[in-house]
Amino acid sequence: MSLLTGKFGIVFGVANKRSIAWAIAQAWHREGAKLAFTYQGERLKENVEELVGAFGGDTLMLPCDVTKDEEIAGVFKAVGEKFGKLHLLLHSVAFAPKDALEGEFVNTSREAFRVAHDVSAYSLVALARGAAPLMTEGGSIVAMTYYGSEKVVPHYNVMGVAKAALEAGTRYLAYDLGPKKIRVNCISAGPVNTLAARGIAGFTEMLKHYEAHSPLKRNVLPEELGATGTFLASDGAAAITGQVIYVDCGYQIMGM
Ligand code: NAP
Repeated sequence: MSLLTGKFGIVFGVANKRSIAWAIAQAWHREGAKLAFTYQGERLKENVEELVGAFGGDTLMLPCDVTKDEEIAGVFKAVGEKFGKLHLLLHSVAFAPKDALEGEFVNTSREAFRVAHDVSAYSLVALARGAAPLMTEGGSIVAMTYYGSEKVVPHYNVMGVAKAALEAGTRYLAYDLGPKKIRVNCISAGPVNTLAARGIAGFTEMLKHYEAHSPLKRNVLPEELGATGTFLASDGAAAITGQVIYVDCGYQIMGM
C-alpha cells in the first residue's frame, strides 16, 4: 500500500508545471492521495486543467482567490460534497506587488504590506478554518515558506515579513488544531525557478549564491520538495506539528 492511500487532499497554488505546488501534488498523487485543485481566475484555469488531466477526467478543480472569503467557502463546500472528508491541504500561495520586491523595504507602501500579508499569510488561517471541519480523521496542513522570514535577503522585503507571519501563524494554528489531530507545518524551500520567484529582483543571483554557499553545493530540486511534502502528509510525521522544516541543501545552518 502507498503512503497516502485513502487520503483526500486539496492543493492551492498550482500556476504551471514549474510550481512547487505541482511538484508536491504529483508526489501526493503517486502515493495514492485523491486530490482537488484550485486556480486563481480563468487565466490559470487552462494551465491547471491541462496538468491535472494526467490524474484522470474527474479531478475536482475550483476557482479560488484566497483573498475572497466567499470563494474559500465555495471550495470547502464543493470538497465536502465530493469527498465527504479531507486529510491534506497544501498552501503554496504568495503574492506581493512587484515594486515592493525591488528597491528598499523602508519604502513599502501600506497597501503593498496589506496585500502581501492578506494573500501570503492570512490566507493560511482562512484555509485552515475552512478545512478543519472536514478533517474529521485528523489531517496535515503544509505551507510553503522561505528563509527571508528570519534573515534579511535583499529584495525579498515585505515578503520576508509576510513569511514571518505565515510561520508564526503555523504555530498558533498547530496549537489550536492539535486536539483535532490536525498538524500544521511549513516547508522552508531554498530558491526554485518558478513564476513567483522570477518576480524577485536578483533571483538568478540567489540561485548562484546557494549553489556556492550551501553545504550540499547545489540548489534544491522540486521533486525533493515533493518528497518532504509527502513525509509531512504521511503518518511518519504523526508527531510533528508547528514546525518549519528547511529543505534548502543546508543553507540555513550557515553563518558565513
Ligand atoms: P508559483 O508557481 O508562481 O506559485 C504561486 C501561486 O500563488 C500561483 O499559483 C499564484 O497564482 C498563487 N496566488 C497568488 N495570489 C493568489 C491569490 N490571491 N489567490 C490564490 N492564489 C494566488 O510560485 P512558487 O515558487 O511555486 O510559489 C509557491 C509557494 O512557495 C509560495 O508561497 C512561495 O513564497 C513559496 N516559496 C517559493 C520559493 C521559490 O524559490 N520559488 C522558495 C521558498 C518558498 P497566480 O499566478 O495567478 O498569481
